[in-house]
Amino acid sequence: MKKKLWGALVLLFVAAFTLGACGSKDDSGASGGTEGGDDGKLKVVATFSILYDIANEVGGDRVDVHSMVPIGTAPHEYEPLPEDVKKTSDADVLFYNGLNLEGGKDGWFFRLLDTTGTDESKVFELMKGVEPLYITDQKGHEGEVNPHAFLDPNVGIQMVENARDAFVKVDPDHQDEYEKNAEEMLSKLHEIDQEYKDKIAEIPEEKRILVTSERAYQYMAKSYGLEEGYIWAIDTEENGSPAQIKSLVNFIRDRDVPALFVESNVDRRPMETVSKETGVPIAHELYSDELGEPGSEGATFLDFLKYNIENIHDGLME
Ligand SMILES: [Zn+2]
Repeated sequence: MKKKLWGALVLLFVAAFTLGACGSKDDSGASGGTEGGDDGKLKVVATFSILYDIANEVGGDRVDVHSMVPIGTAPHEYEPLPEDVKKTSDADVLFYNGLNLEGGKDGWFFRLLDTTGTDESKVFELMKGVEPLYITDQKGHEGEVNPHAFLDPNVGIQMVENARDAFVKVDPDHQDEYEKNAEEMLSKLHEIDQEYKDKIAEIPEEKRILVTSERAYQYMAKSYGLEEGYIWAIDTEENGSPAQIKSLVNFIRDRDVPALFVESNVDRRPMETVSKETGVPIAHELYSDELGEPGSEGATFLDFLKYNIENIHDGLME
């Protein structure tokens, strides 16, 4: 859908909503929260699946969370649906990633806040306090902030703390509950951090190379000492051009790379070409921009992080 059409839809929707003509139905899969917050739960909107999971874990029974970007869609560019507009207008708390994930201040999320006139005091950046890393493109200019910090368990810890602080600020009456929920998730994240350290220590040093399609693992790779190879720097640019593929093939030829990886949400064909050209097999799929579908091995943030390190370890140990 193009911007213009989206704008028109939003206007139409806001108009309908203002006139009270909108009979919206409740979010499927939500915990049965009633419209208007009669159940006393905080109405939370998260931009994408990872933040949705963190909000649910930390908010527990106190929150009713709506996730905007659906699984299967990259969160960098998104056209909010009428339901997202309505939920945003009604929200008590809004979580976004930040670090440019939602396209920065000119991106879709800030446009949505603008359209709905949402008060800044309800909006929380879960990457607050995270040191940004920058993406250098093929031509060598250091440009955009890499938004994919959530692939690093250390950053996950920061995100949970930020979510906890946001809930406590908006709803101080239930501070103990938010702190207890956060503590549980934090102790699991500390275990996962240790698992990353242990598993990577087992991989011979010259094989600690993570080759993926998008350069999404920069923070994680830096934290745990992996070298990165990738076809394209970020999903919003050209993905898998002959020049990008050639550059990765050369990178692999200079090194002892045991395996390649491909993310669950990208076109596999560019990496298949790299595999054919180098003779290095594609070992496993990894998660990058989103959780796995409900019921899959990466359906929660904690499982998503565990799934990645287990598969990276497996692939590089072969
Ligand atoms: Zn991405």
